[in-house]
Amino acid sequence: MELQCDISLAARYTSASQVARILSEAWCHRELYCPACDSNRIARSKTNTPAVDFDYPRCGQLFQLKSLRTWNPKKIPDAAYDAMIRAIRQDRTPHLVLLQYTRDWFIQNVLLIPRSFFTESTIEKRRPLSSAARRAGWVGCNILLESIPEDGKIAIVSGGLPEPEHRVRQEFNRVQGLAKLTPPQRGWTVDVLTSIRRLGKNRFSLHELYETEHDLQELHPSNHNVRPKIRQQLQVLRDLRLIKFEGNGSYLLKD
Ligand SMILES: [Zn+2]
Repeated sequence: MELQCDISLAARYTSASQVARILSEAWCHRELYCPACDSNRIARSKTNTPAVDFDYPRCGQLFQLKSLRTWNPKKIPDAAYDAMIRAIRQDRTPHLVLLQYTRDWFIQNVLLIPRSFFTESTIEKRRPLSSAARRAGWVGCNILLESIPEDGKIAIVSGGLPEPEHRVRQEFNRVQGLAKLTPPQRGWTVDVLTSIRRLGKNRFSLHELYETEHDLQELHPSNHNVRPKIRQQLQVLRDLRLIKFEGNGSYLLKD
């Protein structure tokens, strides 16, 4: 994987955002392989969805590209809030490729977020644009990267170094079972997985997980049975082979 963008492609463009778009898209076309299958080439998307930038003809997976100069590991701004929530509820969000480049157009970080990790808990509503703005009243959203468990943040390039392809594909396939759940089910599953990851250890007990009850209650204020829900989601995570039941209320996160 060659991490330098081809700067000559930007010669005709003057707007910084256009240059970023052209160079990062060209880099993806040159270097990105499909994480879902063994295809090594992507195609510019032919779908009519503005959120989809490219797809892989062989497996049909859809991807959105977001290029950034600065990297905030907590949250990144995205498009309209309502459209995002609708896309989540209708289960049509694409996978997201977050790409960070340096001033010299060297690809520094590429993070893949599989579509299943976009849930209502990971989207934050921004304040409406002020009346002075061109799009006054428009409400955007932030993607809360800090609310996405590490299972859903797959590094393709990390700190200027490419990760091995087989590992990226392995990590991507590991969480593909989530895609089979309906969006409301998946929302809970991802939230419970996030709570497990926040415990910061591979082996944990039901008792420890219950201590995150308050956070889950805040995310789901209308649910009054959080503990049974946690137990139910542990079974879902077990069936997806993301955790293992070890007996006596003890659980193990699986690689
Ligand atoms: Zn593919």
